Amino acid sequence: MKIVEVKIHPLRTPLETPFAFSQGWVRARSATLVEVITDEGITGWGEAFAQGLEPPQIAAAVIGSALTPVVMGQDPLDTEVLWHRMYHASRDYGRKGSVIAGISAIDMALWDIAGKAHGVPVHKLLGGAFRTRVQAYATGFYRISGQGEAKRLGEEAIAHHEAGFRAMKVKLGYGIQDDLAVMREIGRNIAGRGVTLMVDTNHAYGVGDAIRLGYGLAEYDLRWYEEPVAPEHIQGYRQVRDKLPMPIAGGENEHTLYGFRDFLAAGAVDIAQPDLGSVGGFTACRHVVALAQAHGVQVNPHVWGSAIAQAASLQMIAAVPVAHHSVFAEEPIFEYDRSSHPFRQFLVKEPVQQVDGWVEIPMRPGLGVEVDRAVLDRYRIA
Ligand code: CA
Repeated sequence: MKIVEVKIHPLRTPLETPFAFSQGWVRARSATLVEVITDEGITGWGEAFAQGLEPPQIAAAVIGSALTPVVMGQDPLDTEVLWHRMYHASRDYGRKGSVIAGISAIDMALWDIAGKAHGVPVHKLLGGAFRTRVQAYATGFYRISGQGEAKRLGEEAIAHHEAGFRAMKVKLGYGIQDDLAVMREIGRNIAGRGVTLMVDTNHAYGVGDAIRLGYGLAEYDLRWYEEPVAPEHIQGYRQVRDKLPMPIAGGENEHTLYGFRDFLAAGAVDIAQPDLGSVGGFTACRHVVALAQAHGVQVNPHVWGSAIAQAASLQMIAAVPVAHHSVFAEEPIFEYDRSSHPFRQFLVKEPVQQVDGWVEIPMRPGLGVEVDRAVLDRYRIA
């Protein structure tokens, strides 16, 4: 089998109601999708992680100019070989960010092709499924006006609970006092409902304030505290982790086994969160899983993309071992973004659906997605 074409689909649509996370206002949802076409009629889909503030054209340019020439004419089943070739070809200007997101998208598509060629879901090629369903957690609690939204966010917690979620991640990083006011309101509203909370500041604070906030959060029995400091401040992560009682999580802005090597060796986190569309695809995530396992760190993939990224994340989660085995071991959970994304669900024929807070791992070949081309055409960037 040979790769004969790589099609790039950069998509974007403005949001009716822009929302904020600690790093800025999200005014549009976007995605950089790739379609890798083979001479045997099998097509694979992939997606580069488009962070809320990131123009999807960056990863599209990387894929078109730098990576397509590397993979054209090659056998798509040579996933490991092609990953290293793409990495080597872009090393001197890549290694992080959108270049690795571009590699991620192509790698994801190659694994989709491999699954379809073998007639099995990707998790089977990764070594099998440790689980056939995964608990979903609601990612939400974004800001619409800015600070002082505790009451509305408290009500949002009830809405997630009523939708079936028993785990929720609260976006913080809007000022420590404002953050704590939000948590008090949410804590009051979910009391007695059996809800597990996590928080995510998207690296809004330096070490001192990250720790100060953490002291104020100790009473919520958090499953994790995500991105307490900037991704490149590895020692800062370690300082935060040394001081605070709750598990520290991070890694959505880290890339490849090389980035995670330093992150893990420093003892930065309890939970590593590679994003399939950003870490370097399945090939790199598999490297990171092995590395994390050796460091006694749990991998819990991050996802904040369209239906293709979600499908990839579910296939990976199925194949992630628990780092700390016990009869009642804590299993990885699936990030279920509840923020506005006009085309996420419509992009594929069978989108991810949670039922009572759980999501089944798709058993269809490859990623198990069938893309609706009308949706591609509708949201395509001219
Ligand atoms: Ca995050």
